[in-house]
Amino acid sequence: MFKHTRTAIISILLATSFSTGGTRIATADSKLPDPATAGFAEKLYRLDCGHSLANDESVWTPGENVGRSIEFSSTCWLIKRGSEWVLWDTGVPQSTMNDPNGWSTLPKLIVYHLDKSITGQLAEIGLKASDITYVAISHTHGDHIGNVVLFPNSTVLMQRTEYTWISSPDGPNDNVNQLKALARKLMGTPKQLKLLDGDTDVFGDGSVTLIATPGHTPGHQSLLVHLKNSGFIILSGDVVHSEDNFARNIVPSLNTDKAASIASMARVRRVMATYQAKLFINHDKAQTDTLKLLPAFYD
Ligand SMILES: [Zn+2]
Repeated sequence: MFKHTRTAIISILLATSFSTGGTRIATADSKLPDPATAGFAEKLYRLDCGHSLANDESVWTPGENVGRSIEFSSTCWLIKRGSEWVLWDTGVPQSTMNDPNGWSTLPKLIVYHLDKSITGQLAEIGLKASDITYVAISHTHGDHIGNVVLFPNSTVLMQRTEYTWISSPDGPNDNVNQLKALARKLMGTPKQLKLLDGDTDVFGDGSVTLIATPGHTPGHQSLLVHLKNSGFIILSGDVVHSEDNFARNIVPSLNTDKAASIASMARVRRVMATYQAKLFINHDKAQTDTLKLLPAFYD
């Protein structure tokens, strides 16, 4: 359940401390939790949700690395908070597992492979799909929503802007049009869909917060989780694809809005500073390979 009242009270308190106390939380971040009083999630697990090979890195680094191939990781995350579970992104469709030809969102550009299923990884720690309370998705590209249909009893959390966008008329970029068509197919019609309007405190206690970071797609979001020992961690979604792009403010050509993408990267930097947060970058294979993998977890 969403704690609307509590969220509202916290928002009012934050707004108050804002106008009277001149806190360090910038206006644009006013809906985010107070780092000093935010609650905790107990566990954060990384799931292996596929890996991919693209034949032209310059799509992600315009003007550089033309024709060079690049490998990406695909990562899903599972958060335990009390007796509830949040799955963040769902990866490549598991129906394509072990297919030697792989699977693609844009056939001329990128091929994904999946070695492990989400449901198999959940089973490793004793969970079934029906145990997942929320499936929160960063955005509607196929490598992030490929398994939403496996969780018909979970509440899907996504930005309203994103949901509206995938059904909007096609634009000039054919790659983007293809991705939208695939998104409509993979999303289907979730039984329990909660459309969000901007930043959202999922449990009303600051332990898990969805942060609006548009630009890669119109309703893209990232996730801020608070853990007792590990502190605050930001799960990127695709707000950025690599540590190098983040350091140099580089925006992939597939992104729907370059200026918004740069603003969202700036927002992530601000959140990292306010919360002393680490940033886990979904597709950065070099970084991902250094992170714990289920059954290991962050706490
Ligand atoms: Zn992606």
